[in-house]
This record gives sequence, C-alpha cells and structure tokens, in this order.
Amino acid sequence: MIESEEHRAFREQVRRFVEREVAPNIDAWEAAEEIDRDLYRKAAQAGLLGIGYPEEYGGINVGNDPRYALIATDEQCRAGSGGLVASLYSLGIALPPVVALGSAELKQRVLPDVLAGEKIAALAITEPGGGSDVANLRTTAVRDGGDYVINGSKTFITSGMRADWITTAVRTGGDGMQGISLIAVPGDTPGLSRTKLKKMGWWCSDTATLYFDNCRVPADNLIGPEGAGFMGIMRNFNNERLALAAQAVGLAQCALDEAQDWAQQRKTFGKRLADHQVVRHKLVDMRMQVDAARAYLGSITDRVADGEAPIPELCMLKVFCTDMLERVAGEAVQILGGMGYMRETKSERIFRETKVLSIGGGASEIMKDLAARQLGI
Ligand SMILES: Cc1cc2nc3c(=O)[nH]c(=O)nc-3n(C[C@H](O)[C@H](O)[C@H](O)COP(=O)(O)OP(=O)(O)OC[C@H]3O[C@@H](n4cnc5c(N)ncnc54)[C@H](O)[C@@H]3O)c2cc1C
Repeated sequence: MIESEEHRAFREQVRRFVEREVAPNIDAWEAAEEIDRDLYRKAAQAGLLGIGYPEEYGGINVGNDPRYALIATDEQCRAGSGGLVASLYSLGIALPPVVALGSAELKQRVLPDVLAGEKIAALAITEPGGGSDVANLRTTAVRDGGDYVINGSKTFITSGMRADWITTAVRTGGDGMQGISLIAVPGDTPGLSRTKLKKMGWWCSDTATLYFDNCRVPADNLIGPEGAGFMGIMRNFNNERLALAAQAVGLAQCALDEAQDWAQQRKTFGKRLADHQVVRHKLVDMRMQVDAARAYLGSITDRVADGEAPIPELCMLKVFCTDMLERVAGEAVQILGGMGYMRETKSERIFRETKVLSIGGGASEIMKDLAARQLGI
C-alpha cells in the first residue's frame, strides 16, 4: 500500500491515541463486555470517526482514499482486540447507505451526532432465519399513512444493544432482492426491544438480537427509494470486506509480534525459544504469511483508491486474510505455550476472535462462490 507523508503522520496520530486511550483500558472493557461510551467522543475529537464522510456533516474529507480508514484499523489492532474495532466502527457499516442514498434531511438528522461520537449507529441485516441469503430476508415494513410499520427480528447485530440509529434492511415489496429497502430506525422507537448475546470473542463489542413489534417509523426515514436496499447493502459489503481483511492483517501482526517477543525472552532447555530451530521457523512462516497478506491487502486497496470496485478480488482477499489469521493466531498461542491460553495475553484473545472474521460480512464459502461467479468460473 502506498503511504504518503500524510498517511504516515496519521498513522502516528492513531498510534498515540491507541497508546493513550485504548491500551490501558481494553482489558477492563473486554471484561465489562462494552467499550466506554466516552471513547466514541474521544475518537471523534481525535479525528478518527469522521474519516471519509462529508465535511458538511462533521466528516473529514480524504477524497476517495480508503487508506486512512485502513491505517486506523491497523493501528487499533495493536491493542489486540478486534471487538474494539468492530464496536467503535459499527458506524462504518451503518452510515455509508445513509450517505449514498439518504435525503439531505435524513443525513442532517443522523450523521452529525454519530460522527461527533454522541450517538451510536448499527447495521441490521442478518435475521434469525439466515444471514448469507440476504435476498430472502423477512422483516417487513408496511406503509401506513406517513409511517412504515416494521415487524420481524434481526440478530448478531454489532452495537445492537446501544445503537441510537439502526440502518435496518426490510422487505417493502415482493420476493427477492427487488423487494428490499433500508430504513433508519431510531433506537427509542416504541415496539423495539433488544436482547444481549454472549459470544466466543469480540467481548467488548456488544451484540444483540433486535425485535420489531409494530415499530412505527416516519416514511422520511427510508434510505433512498423503495427497493434500493439490496444495492445499498452490496455497496456496503465492498468496504466492509476490505476493512475485515485489514483487521485480520492487523490482528495477525499483533499476535506475531507478541509471539516473537516471547520467543526471544523465554528459555527452555538452556536457550531462548527462538534459538530452537522449530520455533524460529514457525516465526518466519508466520511472518511470510502476514507479509503476503499485507501486500495483497495493499494491492487491492490501491485499486480501490484508484476508483475500481474489484468485487471478486475483495471476496478472495477477505478469505485469504482471515484464513491467514486463523493459522497465525493458532501458532502464536502455541509458541506462548500455557501462557497463550491465559486471559492476559493478546494472542489468547485474538485466537478467540479469528472465527468471527471468517463468518461476518460474508462467510468464506459465500465469498468464494461470489468470486467464482464474478470470474466466470
Ligand atoms: C460477532 C458477530 C457480529 C455480527 N455483526 C453483524 C451486524 O452488525 N449486522 C448484521 O447484519 N449481521 C452481523 N453479523 C451476522 C453475520 O454477517 C452472519 O453471521 C453471516 O452473514 C452468516 O450468516 P448466518 O450466521 O445466518 O449463517 P448462515 O447463512 O446460516 O450460514 C451458515 C454456514 O453455512 C454456509 N453456507 C450458507 N449458504 C451456503 C451456500 N449456498 N453454499 C455453501 N455454504 C453455505 C455459510 O458460509 C456458513 O458457513 C454478525 C455476526 C457475528 C458472529
């Protein structure tokens, strides 16, 4: 990935933010199963939430450059918590459809508060009946006078317990993708209830099932025209897959760094772990995999920065990077030995977080199928 002076300065800025605001608190947030709400405001003030959003709504204009957001992800992964990134940046999947398709009035109501870190935004697509088959979602929104009345449920929703705005995929028309719309649901809508979910990893990121029981939402909250939802969701997926690939690379780097530090300090049989050839080779194997994934990520990022939307490559990139993370995190835990199984190491947490990246934002099987179809295989 080509990084300019400005990119490097931004990287430094994020690194300082992580050292100051995140690293000292992350273990407590993981235990509490949520990040401090104040972190959203602090991240906004440090210029981390608004990157890439329109300035008129409080965003920071970086043109069409995805590198800033990926640098922010990479640096935040140094804290060794993907849950932090998922939670703090749930706006990154919730807001783009509002920006791309929403009316000026809706943007004004939603964007400034979220970009200032005053409100939290979530994206709700997945349903208890299934997540991969988006075109068949069942939650309905029926027009009634000046409102839509929403019924159904959503599950596994990141920031679902706390979100003030929920970009919700609903069926306003007939079967299939043409019948899907997106609507911005205020978190305090009567009839909306939420249940917290317990997870394998991403502990500090709250995750919820949402129930919509005759939720009445103003028709002005529709994001774009009726039937535009599926396209909005698909456009979102490109950015999300790039971000998830970046998260996998950042977390793999973090696990590798921890394993290497450990191998250089710990002694067994009279010498450092790193002096045993097997361990040394493991570390080189891990580094080759991380570096290859980082280079792949960089090359696809540069294409996106040039205005391309390379859908099959984005799918393959996500699979490649998340598979790589599973292998590297597993080896990091192995090198740390018993300590790698302990809560106090980053590798233990990262190991528990590998699976969500291979499942969320499009599971690996779905990614490969989509890539194959797009490539005409
Ligand atoms: C921690 C976490 C956070 C999440 N956050 C959000 C969020 O904020 N918003 C949101 O909307 N969703 C969110 N999700 C949901 C996530 O996007 C879905 O879990 C994912 O899309 C898969 O859907 P599913 O779980 O229903 O699995 P299913 O669709 O039931 O699939 C189950 C398995 O079968 C495989 N499979 C399915 N169909 C096929 C096929 N045709 N061919 C081959 N294999 C197939 C899948 O690849 C998968 O391995 C989150 C999930 C998790 C775990």
